[in-house]
Amino acid sequence: MKIAIIGTGMAGLSAAHHLSGDHDVVLFDKSRGVGGRMSTRYAGAYEFDHGAQYFTLSDPEFEALVDTLGEATAPWDSRGLYLRAGEMMADTGRPRWVGAPRMNALPKAMANGLNIQLGRRVARIAGQPGELTLRFEDKSTDGPFDRVICTAPAPQASDILPQRSPLQVILADVRMHACFALMVGWLDPFDPGWDSLRVSDLPISWMARNSSKQGRDETISTLVVHAAPEWSDVHAEADREWVQTMMLDAASALCGRPLNQAPHIALHRWLYAYANEGVGQNCLIDPALGVVLAGDWCVGGRVEGAYISGRAAANAINLLG
Ligand code: FAD
Repeated sequence: MKIAIIGTGMAGLSAAHHLSGDHDVVLFDKSRGVGGRMSTRYAGAYEFDHGAQYFTLSDPEFEALVDTLGEATAPWDSRGLYLRAGEMMADTGRPRWVGAPRMNALPKAMANGLNIQLGRRVARIAGQPGELTLRFEDKSTDGPFDRVICTAPAPQASDILPQRSPLQVILADVRMHACFALMVGWLDPFDPGWDSLRVSDLPISWMARNSSKQGRDETISTLVVHAAPEWSDVHAEADREWVQTMMLDAASALCGRPLNQAPHIALHRWLYAYANEGVGQNCLIDPALGVVLAGDWCVGGRVEGAYISGRAAANAINLLG
């Protein structure tokens, strides 16, 4: 079968990984690089994992994949703290893994050898079952495809999917939250006594010393600060300078260092950063159309959930025949 996959984040790459041996698979992404929210921002001497911070391994197949791509991943032995209602405690949980030497190394390794077209924003899935066409924002088209897997975040998937699809009803109920990511860099090492700090007080929910991750340049400091989802939702359209100032002030107080004097400061808004609980199915199938939807939002967010969802989409395609 000729299969189109929209999105080269973890879900799209996972689907491709499971299908490409048996089918003619082509992936499309609107971005300039692969990885989706597992991305890295470059700025001169600085590099920031400004989306996903780490991933966990509980699915045996995902663990095996990470093992196979060993060079592109590393455990992050982070000193994690949790500041909750003014009280500092250890932030415990499953062992954390990261892409090495940067987060996008894992998706880049998974993308090796795949047929990928970047910089192509899909506007609409059109056509008939077995003869599906992709229409792009620049008015070009591609196809026909026997099947299409779409791994865009749910609100974007809804724009692409034909309105007549019954999956639109489920998509309408999926809530995704925004997240502002503040990136602060300076050219000397800085150690506040933690590598990651989870915070329960608004506006910030998370700070991490990116430079403490395996394979990063530890002679400089790269700090990633995430605003809480509920705060980011409320202020998603607010003046960016105001958002940056609010986050810098809060982060400076937590670090005990005036971050607004750092030589590099940048802000990024993720409009669809985190998903709610999931949709109760690992992927969504429209058998009449031959389209499958996948993504972290099916499984309640996170990198490993996206991998599981992409694999489920590949299985669904094989079952549809
Ligand atoms: P995405 O990575 O979003 O991939 C979707 C792809 O579709 C993108 O590349 C996008 O460009 C493409 N696309 C969208 N629309 C179109 C279109 N119209 N045409 C073509 N291409 C399109 N998870 C963890 O496990 N641990 C963490 O610590 C963690 N922290 C996070 C912090 C932040 C700030 C954010 C934003 C996310 C975080 N996550 C974390 C969540 C994790 O990043 C996601 O669960 C996972 O990367 C989602 O993968 P995906 O393939 O489902 O979606």
